[in-house]
Amino acid sequence: MRNANQMHRLILVVLLSVAFSCGQKNAPDLVLVNGKVWTGESDSTFVEGVAIKENKIIAVGTTDEILKLADSKTNRLDLNGKLVTAGFNDAHIHFLSGSLGLAEVDLLGTNSPDEVAQRVNQFIEKNPGKEWITGRGWQYTSFENGLPDSKVLSAISNEVAVFIKAYDGHSAWANKKALALASVDRNTKYAGFGEIVKDKKGEPTGTLRESAMGLVSKKIPETTRYEKLNALRKGMTLATSLGITSAQNANGTAEDLYLFKELSNNNELTLRYAAAFSADENTTDEDVALFTHLKDSVGVNNPMLRADAIKFMIDGVIESHTGYMLQPYSDISSTDPLALGQLAVPIEKYQKLVTAFDKNGFRIYTHAIGDRGVRESLNAYENAANVNGKRDARHRVEHIETVSPDDIPRFAQLDVMPSMEPIHADPGTIEVWANAIGEARLPWSFAWAEMLKHKAYLVYSSDWPACIDINPIRGIHVAVTRKTPEGLPEGGWITEQKISIAQALKAYTSAGAYSSFEENLKGQIKPGQLADIIVFSQDLFTIDPMKTYATKVVLTVFDGKVIYNVIE
Ligand SMILES: [Zn+2]
Repeated sequence: MRNANQMHRLILVVLLSVAFSCGQKNAPDLVLVNGKVWTGESDSTFVEGVAIKENKIIAVGTTDEILKLADSKTNRLDLNGKLVTAGFNDAHIHFLSGSLGLAEVDLLGTNSPDEVAQRVNQFIEKNPGKEWITGRGWQYTSFENGLPDSKVLSAISNEVAVFIKAYDGHSAWANKKALALASVDRNTKYAGFGEIVKDKKGEPTGTLRESAMGLVSKKIPETTRYEKLNALRKGMTLATSLGITSAQNANGTAEDLYLFKELSNNNELTLRYAAAFSADENTTDEDVALFTHLKDSVGVNNPMLRADAIKFMIDGVIESHTGYMLQPYSDISSTDPLALGQLAVPIEKYQKLVTAFDKNGFRIYTHAIGDRGVRESLNAYENAANVNGKRDARHRVEHIETVSPDDIPRFAQLDVMPSMEPIHADPGTIEVWANAIGEARLPWSFAWAEMLKHKAYLVYSSDWPACIDINPIRGIHVAVTRKTPEGLPEGGWITEQKISIAQALKAYTSAGAYSSFEENLKGQIKPGQLADIIVFSQDLFTIDPMKTYATKVVLTVFDGKVIYNVIE
């Protein structure tokens, strides 16, 4: 016994002398103390302080323990008990289009055709000389039949061309001038994915669905590289103010990657960025080779930039009946050509490409919103594993707005991540969606709790700008309440699927890191991880969940540096 004690004492003396001899050199650059730090390792692991040196977390512990590590040069931040978590990882975002949208018409919060028209007209007035007015954000629920038509939007000026996408980006409305410039009229036929919506007399209403939007959007003048880089800088500033320290793009081209490479080379990135390349039925063997070359050229050693994901779209969206369904939609005739929705890519071609990209080591995201689209995505991943051999692939299905209960256990079985947007289930925008789905399928709408129950690794995101709001807190509010910020509907919307705040935060932090094979680098607050850390205005773990939406990020530490601080 005595020997063991003596031995312990000896070890302690040795450790202390080591600590003293290099204490100065190893002192943290920054310490956050007196906080309520959720480390993310379990639902209820909290510490008081974090020590940061260069861009890494070197210690966590009590305030006393952390302060002992500091020296005269250490920057100390007293958090006054505020909640601290790892930075948000937005795992499905369209960062470039969202950023470009910051300079376009914003229809956030419009609820009627009049409000839409007013907002657009004001923008036209403020931007004289602009030949094309573009924007995004109208809601299907703002219009009587779920879609805008030329009559209700005739209050919008026809002097300039106007082209405005719906909030989800799957439909757009063009005014008469825009249709004329694109030569779309009653005689225009369209056979691709989507539709030129026409009225009873055969005249285009201005609404274009899915790929038919391209008939008009291809006429819009190209944005320059300079404008794009500036937009990305604005987008990053916005993301930082909301605590987003990692973003995984969900579409893209080689050119998009080059923009981020330039920002990375200039040390301008204020978030870690994972690029994805879009693939569809026109993707060729040469494209597969190009994307693979780009992936390998970026590699996995730059914690600021990755390019190892591929994005497919297997179907469309519920609101426009283009989500691919196992059973017919509830609000249209079963003989309607869209009764079961639509595939965005022939299944055989999709399966072949999934297998090719899987073989080349990509992570694959498939947008699948209808329950049949979800099933086909899982089938394709299962098939790829059978053909290429099972590996740790971390493929994902995106959105999963409705899913057959038979398919939910398959996510964990196949190691496929459900990647979902809590904000898409905001009950304030769900009416048209819910009518199309019908009562019987509602229990498996945005089925987050059911996914977790079946051990699936749920990852969250915003889908900005398809959701309009990039703010993770807005989604987390819906995740934990299934209510609008105003508290509607009173009893909540399909509350069986709401999840806990720890589950929601995990889906918005470490799950995103896991998705990109970076769980050892980021996503939690523990020694060795990159110092991407955020502080909140209120304690999400103890407040009334209905107050979640009012929570603000007040401090963002990125790569070890405080880059946003509005703590009062
Ligand atoms: Zn998306």
